[in-house]
Amino acid sequence: MMGLMKISDIADQVERELVSREEIDRKIAETAKQISHDYAGRDLLLVGVLKGAASTLVALADALSIDVEIDYVKLSSYGAGTESSGTVTVRNDLSCDVRGRNVLVVEDIVDTGRTLAWFCKELDRRGAASVETFALFDKPARRTIDFHPKYQGILIPDVFAVGFGLDYAEKYRNLDSVAVLKPSVYSKETNA
Ligand code: 5GP
Ligand code: MG
Ligand code: MG
Repeated sequence: MMGLMKISDIADQVERELVSREEIDRKIAETAKQISHDYAGRDLLLVGVLKGAASTLVALADALSIDVEIDYVKLSSYGAGTESSGTVTVRNDLSCDVRGRNVLVVEDIVDTGRTLAWFCKELDRRGAASVETFALFDKPARRTIDFHPKYQGILIPDVFAVGFGLDYAEKYRNLDSVAVLKPSVYSKETNA
């Protein structure tokens, strides 16, 4: 494949690969099959949480065998650093009304669980007929509230991950697999 940024292209910044592209592709294919089965014959609105879930949403939609509608929402999350701000707000809202719709929220990663738990409650409040979630990656060790996505992603340890949509300071989203960065990348940032 041409044009993809691979770990070997930024070897000086990467400590190690955490999840291979093969594993990501396998998880997405398996989840798409399950979703196509579960929502067969029903209306489905996929909602991607920007910016991180954009890669996952496109890959998932491409792998579905059912017709879906797609929308995006931008929620506040980590900002430029690696720590959660704690409160969730809508920065760019959906372009559609979710009243009476079956909504599947697509996220890059579930960490403390606060973002998805809050957004699911918000979709309920807006009158969605059903609300389910898929997060491609999952850090169960970091959960501060009891939240389990219906479609479970790839379990990863308590480390800060980048790639396949996940950023550090808006970079590394276009890395084709998921990696842990070298500590020197972060220290450079704080000294800047
Ligand atoms: P929460 O803590 O609310 O479950 O996760 C909020 C958001 O934090 C996620 O949607 C994601 O954007 C970001 N996040 C959590 N863990 C990581 C990580 O390991 N790497 C990156 N780049 N973002 C993360
Ligand atoms: Mg996210
Ligand atoms: Mg981020």
